[in-house]
Amino acid sequence: MATKKVLVTGATGRTGSIVFRKLRQQTDQFEAVGFARSETKVQELFGSKESFFFGDISDPSSLQKAISACHALVILTSSVPIMKAPPKPGERPEFVFAPGGMPEEVDFYGQKNQIDAAINAGVNHVVLVGSMGGASENHPLNRLGNGNLLVWKRKSEQYLIDSGLDYTIIRAGGLLDQPGGERELLVSKEDLFLTNAPNSISASIPRADVAEVVVQALKEPNARNKAFDVIAKPDDDPSAVVTSDFAALFAQTTSGL
Ligand code: NAP
Repeated sequence: MATKKVLVTGATGRTGSIVFRKLRQQTDQFEAVGFARSETKVQELFGSKESFFFGDISDPSSLQKAISACHALVILTSSVPIMKAPPKPGERPEFVFAPGGMPEEVDFYGQKNQIDAAINAGVNHVVLVGSMGGASENHPLNRLGNGNLLVWKRKSEQYLIDSGLDYTIIRAGGLLDQPGGERELLVSKEDLFLTNAPNSISASIPRADVAEVVVQALKEPNARNKAFDVIAKPDDDPSAVVTSDFAALFAQTTSGL
């Protein structure tokens, strides 16, 4: 079987680095290419800069070079709110974004640049990892640093759908730095997990499980043209059946936002 060449952006991120490693372990199926802005971080994380392109998602020409001859693109870049200072007792923390790092710049224009680069390069599948919570503009995350974080993420999801490229949009619940492959994953839409979740289920998921969903979405045809929310049952839930059949999981998902 021919290998699929996949560009992973945000490959120095906490989820992106797991995706990059997973793809690199499956050389029979994938050729992983990473995109990052920090050579130092790449060296620290992966011990080498091999298979990496360096640039910034605000610079379309750097993306164009990286994505050349790729079959698929995994978008794992994100704006990151920074806490200004530890809050005083009884007060809420205040957040800012780094210069050039506002959600409009990173999560909309930066992602749009990536999708446009994918169109120009003839890429046929884009996997975009985003966040649950965007179905309502009133979500508190939108108020962080006046960034409208989820509003801009949602706009780029729509831009991807409208691009005509095959897409898989994975909207994760709260991300946990815990092992993957140990939980039952649940999919839904429209933030129903936030409004209707049974009490035993917290709307969260390990980053390693999100990364596995990304890898499986690159393999499974029925992940194409789907957008969904995904969370995991707690690992000590006695009713949980660890997810291993990803084709069955994707079969529960639907197209459109
Ligand atoms: P992360 O660790 O914050 O990684 C973000 C990545 O984006 C980093 O590699 C960063 O590069 C890169 N990046 C940012 N701006 C860039 C630019 N201008 N050019 C090139 N690269 C740029 O990500 P994560 O926490 O794993 O989150 C993955 C996704 O899940 C995000 O979309 C996030 O919003 C979403 N999500 C998060 C949560 C949560 O609980 N935190 C919940 C649900 C969904 P550097 O390494 O150089 O900074």
